[in-house]
Amino acid sequence: PLPPRVYFETVEQAPVAISITDDKADILYVNAAFEQLTGYDRDQVIGRNQSILSNNATPSSIYQQLWRTIQSKNTWTGILVNRTRDGGDYLAELIISPVLDAGGRIRFFLGMHRDVTREH
Ligand code: FAD
Repeated sequence: PLPPRVYFETVEQAPVAISITDDKADILYVNAAFEQLTGYDRDQVIGRNQSILSNNATPSSIYQQLWRTIQSKNTWTGILVNRTRDGGDYLAELIISPVLDAGGRIRFFLGMHRDVTREH
């Protein structure tokens, strides 16, 4: 097996915005690409909910479907309009998946997203 540091550095340096949250989407970790894309330093987002990225215009039915999917231990993929710290909107292609403990309960969520604004 690789040393734990390698797994950390791989996530930290991945070219896609990555966050690890608790089971309520409160942020525990973000990688460097997340800071770069969203404009938030990690100190500003850790402990806050992922909803800080919401543009506040997405219908709540979309979020309900997202939560239904991930709470039933499935992966949700979709596109949301996110807002950076500066207030700029961008299209985020997201993948959100649960991280289970040994007993099969949801412990964390993994969020990965990239800016697909230019591709639309
Ligand atoms: P709210 O009014 O708080 O929620 C809208 C609806 O979502 C509610 O009616 C409810 O049905 C559902 N909901 C919200 N929170 C919960 C909960 N804890 N449990 C069950 N149902 C709930 N959102 C983004 O906009 N952009 C992102 O990039 C993004 N990334 C995420 C990454 C991860 C790993 C996770 C787990 C979530 C992410 N979310 C993201 C979703 C985010 O946490 C919020 O649920 C969403 O932004 C809506 O928040 P709100 O305060 O605007 O709306």
